[in-house]
Amino acid sequence: RTVYVNGEYLPEHEAKISIFDRAFLMADGVYEVTSVLDGKLIDFAGHAKRLERSLSELDMRSPVTTDELLEIHRELVRQNGIEEGLVYLQITRGAPGDRDFVFPDPETTEPTIVLFTQNKPGLADSPAAKKGMKIISIEDQRWGRRDIKTTQLLYPSMGKMMAKKAGADDAWMVEDGFVTEGTSNNAYIIKGNTIITRALSNDILHGITRAAVLRFAAEAQMKVEERNYSIDEAKEADEAFITSASAFVMPVVEIDGVALGDGTPGARAARLREIYLEESRKAAI
Ligand code: PLP
Repeated sequence: RTVYVNGEYLPEHEAKISIFDRAFLMADGVYEVTSVLDGKLIDFAGHAKRLERSLSELDMRSPVTTDELLEIHRELVRQNGIEEGLVYLQITRGAPGDRDFVFPDPETTEPTIVLFTQNKPGLADSPAAKKGMKIISIEDQRWGRRDIKTTQLLYPSMGKMMAKKAGADDAWMVEDGFVTEGTSNNAYIIKGNTIITRALSNDILHGITRAAVLRFAAEAQMKVEERNYSIDEAKEADEAFITSASAFVMPVVEIDGVALGDGTPGARAARLREIYLEESRKAAI
């Protein structure tokens, strides 16, 4: 696999990063994951815009322009022959010569930029979408700036492990009695013809897939309510689903052992997935 590191396209085993890189020492980095369908990028502009915001909230800068970033994405997709898969991008505050809590001077320390692809044939036609996901609820113990897409992923990773151990597929995190989001996705319930999802704030990541799905809700003849909901309300919902760039729209069929509806993926979530895939493919670049 060819990867991109600080201006160079290299075989992955030749790519090197300093041990002083602040992402390695302090999780001082931001990232994006963009999906690829038919060899094209889904919602690149949305991901590029959120990246800019993550960087600016952390007083970081990008070593490349958005146009250059698009070129790098496309070049990696081309060189690695990706038809369906993901492009992972990470920008860190770079590698000053030593470990220090104080941010290094941006005049002397260049940010680090890394991109690689993940080949995922069958991503759109995933069997998981037909099966649906089992979810457990866990307490949300992450930091308070979840709107910034940082590489601090230890708690979400622990959450996935808790789900796995419980025989489930993922965990929804709960704070002050209300669902925030999934470990790596936004969380929704459906009641009647209404999609209910937590409103945007610092409590959740502003999902690019979330924005698209809420935009497409009208096409599915559905209404949207952005508000808090509890895990108990979720268990009584008609349907539930999650969204992310890598899972698109994925139905949820069980929460904490309680089956939603008849325990199979709901028709509305399935329809939203269909519309999302169709519209995203049309707009892919
Ligand atoms: N919420 C969290 C915590 C995530 O990690 C992700 C994706 O990685 C999402 C939501 C979904 O965001 P997007 O649709 O932009 O992939």
